[in-house]
Amino acid sequence: MHEFSAAMSIVETALQAAEEHNARRVTRVNVDVGEFTFLVIDQLIFNFEIASKNTILEGAELKIHTVRGRLRCSDCGFEGETVPDPTLPPEIAAFAPMKCPRCGSAATEIIGGKEFYITDIEAEIASSE
Ligand SMILES: [Zn+2]
Repeated sequence: MHEFSAAMSIVETALQAAEEHNARRVTRVNVDVGEFTFLVIDQLIFNFEIASKNTILEGAELKIHTVRGRLRCSDCGFEGETVPDPTLPPEIAAFAPMKCPRCGSAATEIIGGKEFYITDIEAEIASSE
């Protein structure tokens, strides 16, 4: 249910923003999702469609931008994208402590990839005709 609660929070936030801007209908919601959120994008879109039913978000496109994980090594100062351990199966590698791709040290800190937020909402604004 990870994806459903994530989808619900997108819907709630987008609805609130749409209301504040007097939107008649939301056409697109752009979201940044970091790879360390471990959200399954297809599931997220599917749940968004369910959660947005009967709201002004219904039929809106959920546009996901995946943000690569980044780490910083306190041993050699490396800063960059994470490289999953190729010797581990992907589902385990994702949760294993990230080793520095330059020096192999495990003294790393994740500095990116946990993002989960709406960057932009496109909507039709009600006009006073
Ligand atoms: Zn290093």
